[in-house]
Amino acid sequence: MPESPTTETAAPHAVAVLLPLPLAGTYDYAVPAGLAVAPGDVVRVPLGRRESLGVVWGAAEGIAAARLKPIAEVVATGAVGELARRFVDWVAGYTLAPPGAVLRMALSVPAALVPEVPPPLLRRSAEPLPEKLTAARRKLLDYAADGFARPAGELAREAGVGAGVVKGLLDLGLLEQVRLPPRPPRQPDPETPGPTLSPAQGEAAAALVAAVEARAFSATLLDGVTGSGKTEVYLEAVAAALRQGRQVLVLLPEIALSAQWLARFAQRFGAPPAVWHSEIGGLLRRRTWRQVAAGEARVVVGARSALFLPYRDLGLIVVDEEHEAAFKQEDGVIYHARDMAVVRAHLGQIPIALVSATPSLETLANVEAGRYGALHLPERHGAATLPATSLVDLRRHPPPRVAGLGQSWLSPPLRTALAETLAAGEQALLFLNRRGYAPLTLCRACGHRLQCPNCTAWLVEHRLQGRLQCHHCGYTARLPRTCPACAAEESFAPCGPGVERLAEELTALFPQARQAVLSSDLIAGPSQAQALVEAMERREIDLLVGTQIVAKGHHFPHLTLVGVVDGDLGLVGGDLRAGERTFQLLSQVAGRAGRAEAPGRVLIQTSDPGHPVMRALAAQDRAAFLAAERATRQAGGWPPYGRLAAIIVAAPDAGRADEAARALSRAAPRERAVTILGPAPAPLAILRGWHRRRFLVKTPKDLLPQPLLRGWLAKVKLPAAVRLQVDVDPYSFL
Ligand code: ADP
Ligand code: ZN
Repeated sequence: MPESPTTETAAPHAVAVLLPLPLAGTYDYAVPAGLAVAPGDVVRVPLGRRESLGVVWGAAEGIAAARLKPIAEVVATGAVGELARRFVDWVAGYTLAPPGAVLRMALSVPAALVPEVPPPLLRRSAEPLPEKLTAARRKLLDYAADGFARPAGELAREAGVGAGVVKGLLDLGLLEQVRLPPRPPRQPDPETPGPTLSPAQGEAAAALVAAVEARAFSATLLDGVTGSGKTEVYLEAVAAALRQGRQVLVLLPEIALSAQWLARFAQRFGAPPAVWHSEIGGLLRRRTWRQVAAGEARVVVGARSALFLPYRDLGLIVVDEEHEAAFKQEDGVIYHARDMAVVRAHLGQIPIALVSATPSLETLANVEAGRYGALHLPERHGAATLPATSLVDLRRHPPPRVAGLGQSWLSPPLRTALAETLAAGEQALLFLNRRGYAPLTLCRACGHRLQCPNCTAWLVEHRLQGRLQCHHCGYTARLPRTCPACAAEESFAPCGPGVERLAEELTALFPQARQAVLSSDLIAGPSQAQALVEAMERREIDLLVGTQIVAKGHHFPHLTLVGVVDGDLGLVGGDLRAGERTFQLLSQVAGRAGRAEAPGRVLIQTSDPGHPVMRALAAQDRAAFLAAERATRQAGGWPPYGRLAAIIVAAPDAGRADEAARALSRAAPRERAVTILGPAPAPLAILRGWHRRRFLVKTPKDLLPQPLLRGWLAKVKLPAAVRLQVDVDPYSFL
């Protein structure tokens, strides 16, 4: 065919490639002749003297293709779909993280891009049997006569012969290798019937099912007290999405501790869901990633990072315990998984359900504004009633001394309640959100306090492990024999309680009771947590002492008393959400009591029974608490009625940290609607040896802070030794 005069000789064309690295943007690469690439392809490209994987993001931005380095190879075609790419860009734009850092979360398992090569299996070939065979060889061939294919090791073991026999027969052609694709996972069956729902549950379930069937974006709060059947209700929506042949993502705050949830799911649907969190490794991680991409993993239950998996056809997202702070990722890309899940649902035009007994003010504000729908389950399922809650005023009922112990932490009313519960053969839970033995250790002779050498933080004694520990950087040390300040010997005294110390007091008070302590540092992982939970279910434990991990979702039918040892603990400090979090956490802990027929009760020890949070807890009056909290936030323009972002600069020494803070301060935007607080030393002024200075940027609800932050930060050139962290919608104020 003659060349048309308008076509020039095809200039080498170029594309923009996003690398999964914290770099500013995409990089242009030339596409070598003969190579076809499209957006979403994973490619291998040269980067400096090395190579990197990257994803074709779109058209090249700049320089002539002739001067660009070429793409080396296409690794996986279309592996990062359009939706996934838009999601990466959106999250990066909102959080101000480099897009490549977000992409890295979406490409967290590069090895999964390479198809899995299943190990070869062996079976008897069609080759006729020779006349002479050793006994071992005959034995193996007899065994293999059934024609099944097996891994070499299994074949030898089951036939009772050595590996050399297998190899010999393979060489003779009497055995042959076959490769079979990996077996697809067992699928949850949406048709298995669930429980008969109460009218209120049925109504809520129907609404969520309708949202799934609408195949459009909607966000719905499922709001109901603990034990009201929220899980049963949203599992109906899961079934509806499965019936459509689509995938479902259920986000849980602490997936490593969700054994009960997993067991319940498997029981309901006849097959387990795919599980995703940071501790899943190796082959399982690669396989799960691929099964999600292929649409074979139909239901994924996971932690935050599950949001970035390559779903083929996601049809529903559920965020259980949506109010949990654990959904906020605090390092690397700083993002809130609940909020980004709503964005993901919107991009994919699918429904999302936010589930909680104590919804966040953020979500409630969205309901009020009409952006989210709301469904309510007013009461506990069946005969279970909400536990009666009362406050114990520690000023009127101070804990009396226990012989042989220093201080003690349990007031007479709580001791009496414990004794009654144990006498009735029921279980009790004591909640204290403090790991270790004592939060502070000081010298009796000079008052010296043991502090972390790397952080502005006390060292916490963990007596069971025989160590002092920093809860911020992980520094550990032995308790020194002599005081480093005054050289007094054996002079250290613990100050304040941790769960270990509380357990000591319980042993002294109730030596007969069987006791266990559940806190994240004392369990070696999910299986040990599960073992404890099961022991509790089997009533092998009478007294359970725990930190916040006991608050989450567990269902113990014979637990009838919950004692909160220090109700005021979460209220100290200048955290914007201290009241909200305390209310949520203590409501949740209280909700562990009386989940079955036996009625439960809750005793909260406090030194400030007049505090609005304590009063609302005692009256079980969520509305009153919310009204007060809303009023304060609205008056101050705080989230969710205003917007907040934090900037933290950190440097290896105070001088450089201050200098960087001053440079930022000079360039700060001056707009009437914007309030900039700081710079000030962060409450954790030194963390891991880094000196930290913080700004808080407050804007009205209708003014997004991102453009402002971008403009500001672009004006300042910080020295290489200074680290800068932007936290949009901060939840941690340390
Ligand atoms: P929530 O998620 O609101 O805490 P769950 O869904 O866990 O509540 O329900 C609490 C307990 O009551 C669970 O053991 C659950 O199986 C049971 N339950 C809830 N609704 C029903 C129902 N309609 N029929 C039978 N059991 C139910
Ligand atoms: Zn430290």
